[in-house]
Amino acid sequence: MELYIHLPFCKSKCRYCDFASWPGLEGQMPAYVDAVLAEAAARAEELGAVPIRTVYIGGGTPSLLPPELLRRLLGGLKERLWLSQVCEFTSEANPGTLTPAWLDAAMEGGVTRLSMGMQAAQSALLKTLGRIHSFEDVEQSVALARSRGLENISLDLMFGLPGQTPAMWRDSLEAALSLRPKHLSCYGLIPEDGTPLKAALDAGEESLPPEEEEREMYDLAVRRLAAGGFRQYEISNFALEGCECLHNIGYWLQVPYLGLGAAAASMLVDGECPLRYHRETNPGTLDEYAEMVRRREWHRRDVDSVPPRDARFETMMLGLRMTEGVQEARFEQLHGMTLEDCYGQKLRETAARGLTEYASGRWYLTRAGMDVQNAVLVELMD
Ligand code: SF4
Repeated sequence: MELYIHLPFCKSKCRYCDFASWPGLEGQMPAYVDAVLAEAAARAEELGAVPIRTVYIGGGTPSLLPPELLRRLLGGLKERLWLSQVCEFTSEANPGTLTPAWLDAAMEGGVTRLSMGMQAAQSALLKTLGRIHSFEDVEQSVALARSRGLENISLDLMFGLPGQTPAMWRDSLEAALSLRPKHLSCYGLIPEDGTPLKAALDAGEESLPPEEEEREMYDLAVRRLAAGGFRQYEISNFALEGCECLHNIGYWLQVPYLGLGAAAASMLVDGECPLRYHRETNPGTLDEYAEMVRRREWHRRDVDSVPPRDARFETMMLGLRMTEGVQEARFEQLHGMTLEDCYGQKLRETAARGLTEYASGRWYLTRAGMDVQNAVLVELMD
């Protein structure tokens, strides 16, 4: 099983962000850590001794948590959950918030990997995004992490931003590479409803680059990162050999996960072969979450059952994100049905149009298929 812990505190709200994260709630951090630990204890009781394989602390900005609270959180999790077999332990961190004391507490608590939001090298673009840091802050944070012995660093970058040109994107890629990360995530901006950035775009105050430029930026990333020794293992993710994010691969392979904290989701298995599972999502605000934990009213979680047919589709939807695609043998092992019987004809139709390919017992998206991934999935779903 995988473990995700959500820490929803941020210094300020980025203009594109619709995650469950809030600025100005530092005073609630101690109570929140206690609530997460109480939830962990309740889950341990409910699920029994399930070994955890990967841990991911996300947010929010986990690096805003004071070191002593981080120690309490990580130490408390170790006492409550089975973490002795963890093989990857990631924490997100934001440049400009990282301190030596925080890093020491994180590493003492087991953190082995850092994921940092760099997003762009240009101050103007960082301002457009509402980020609180500069590229120099990223440089300093990476150097600081290295100086404490934390080498396994991933950087997030964003393309398709208002005001961004392919040349600027190339500079951001080069700047990121100059910091020698082991992993890079390159996400195209998706303007989410309810965010200030989406409102400005809708009002015509800002505009996105043309679609062909956005595609050019993505192609540039694929080519440049390949030349730099990074293997693309998922639509948006690139890693040096052996540095892929095991936690995210687990999501794409439908490995069960436990989510702790406000708005965190869990995926819990109800039956194997055919695979049946359900998702449970915690209340999305701090107050509702705290109330649920205090009263032990676990029924307040939103429950979504995934029947076998939907589980099969999710295997395709998630598996086709990865460059390795979906293995026939694994599909059959999970679902007790062959991939050929479920999707064979549709996959051959998309292969005839150059969108999917079959080799060595697996189906995967071609480069052209990645560009229209959603359309391919809609075809498979019909
Ligand atoms: S730092 Fe991350 S979680 Fe916080 S507001 Fe910005 S994008 Fe959202």
